[in-house]
Amino acid sequence: MRKYLLHFASGLLLSFLCSSNIYCQSNDSIILSNIIREASQSSQLKINAHELLDVIGPRLTGSPQMKKANDWAVAKYASWGISAKNEKWGEWRGWERGISHIDLVSPRVRSLEGMQLAWSPATQGKTITAEVIILPEVKDSMAFQQWLPNAKGKFILVSMNQPTGRPDYNWQEFATKNSFDKLKGERAAQTDAWRERIRKTGYTIRTLPRALDSAGAAGIISCNWSQGFGVNKIFNAFTVKGPSVDISLEDYGLLYRLAEGGDRPKISVYTESRGLGFVPTFNTIAEIKGDEKPEEYVILSAHFDSWDGGSGATDNGTGTLTMMETMRILKKMYPHPKRTILVGHWGAEEQGLNGSRAFVEDHPEIVQKIQVVFNQDEGTGRVSTISGMGFLNSYEYLSRWLTKVPDSIKNTITTYFPGTPATGGSDYASFLAAGVPAFSLSSLGWSYGSYTWHTNRDTYDKIVFDDLQSNVILTAILAYMASEDPSTTSREKSILPLNAQSGERTPWPAPKKANRKGGVD
Ligand SMILES: [Zn+2]
Repeated sequence: MRKYLLHFASGLLLSFLCSSNIYCQSNDSIILSNIIREASQSSQLKINAHELLDVIGPRLTGSPQMKKANDWAVAKYASWGISAKNEKWGEWRGWERGISHIDLVSPRVRSLEGMQLAWSPATQGKTITAEVIILPEVKDSMAFQQWLPNAKGKFILVSMNQPTGRPDYNWQEFATKNSFDKLKGERAAQTDAWRERIRKTGYTIRTLPRALDSAGAAGIISCNWSQGFGVNKIFNAFTVKGPSVDISLEDYGLLYRLAEGGDRPKISVYTESRGLGFVPTFNTIAEIKGDEKPEEYVILSAHFDSWDGGSGATDNGTGTLTMMETMRILKKMYPHPKRTILVGHWGAEEQGLNGSRAFVEDHPEIVQKIQVVFNQDEGTGRVSTISGMGFLNSYEYLSRWLTKVPDSIKNTITTYFPGTPATGGSDYASFLAAGVPAFSLSSLGWSYGSYTWHTNRDTYDKIVFDDLQSNVILTAILAYMASEDPSTTSREKSILPLNAQSGERTPWPAPKKANRKGGVD
């Protein structure tokens, strides 16, 4: 009671003093310096990264790990005194990844670096040993149909054999200009020829594996090189009977050259996985209720799901951890916000922003009353750009809020006003389409596109914790400022430019429906 009275009394005192602007600012600056101190001196980022990324692991939509992560986040918020829940919005084809073991067994023995693609069928407790052949070059789809019976019992290489395993930056640094130009020319021609080879089968890169699968192929071998040393993108399988595995560029090239050279390579493949039927999918939602305007919302946003070749560390473990740490610190240092601060950890973003679209569809009462959404989903780097996303007056409130961010953080952020609204990319698009001021805290790259985004190397070690800490401070201060702002943000849209070709005015992005039963063809 004594505590309550003190709190009440200091509140009264502050609101009295706040008639003089100086004291308001000092109240701001106490809270802001508390936020910065907590973020810098008592960071929980590393322990949470370890628990989420190392222990739970990647969070493929429909996997038990996704649900584990949802439950972990709710428990974590509860431990910080923040109310949280998992909100079901749909169902997805469930699948649990097991072991992948791939070995070259002839003409010599070598364990190959590779893994089954997500939702790949398993080898049913058996090791399949079979010859590896290259997708043939055929005249047309008729010729391919005639060839198809030859796929039976074979592993089929369906990707182009890359002419180099060195990324371009490495060539740029060491090659002569002539040899780098030659490489690029040859690679472009080879890429066209491979595209043509697939086109002539009458199938696409998506439908071809299924056709080979139906013809009784032992499995599909692909290599989705991500243009860096030792890094591949790992997406989903298209087969329903035989396994689909991705193999590292180095080992894929080895198999390809052996097959091409007439050495009749054989591999053995053992994969385990479990199909789980349809499983519920959730958004994890947590909030700190507003004191004065509880029905108005400041939303922190980051998708929770990931691809599962790595641990989903930078896509979007880092966005997730940033938003969780921001909430922890706000609850501790700013427990009675003016507006409600809500965090959304969305599901199935990777399959089309589904969790956030569902949230927007399911909560019109919240959507109407959103002050702002801050989304982070571009990897581990320090925030470097913020676009006004086409909102005419976004410069007014965003730049005002940014004034309270320490110079060391804000001086390297470039803002673009009014900017143009994004049609996709991440969950801010779901809110933008509903006319809600939603902004991307866009980060420095740290080779995100080639090395971590959707790759087998998206792991804990790629996180730059100093940058995350800086993003936490930025996000917490922006959330504080947005919550405390005496005025409601303007949703007025700027006039978008004319389309250069059609001459017509670019329309504001339209809402797209969430896929609420996913993972089916
Ligand atoms: Zn992402």
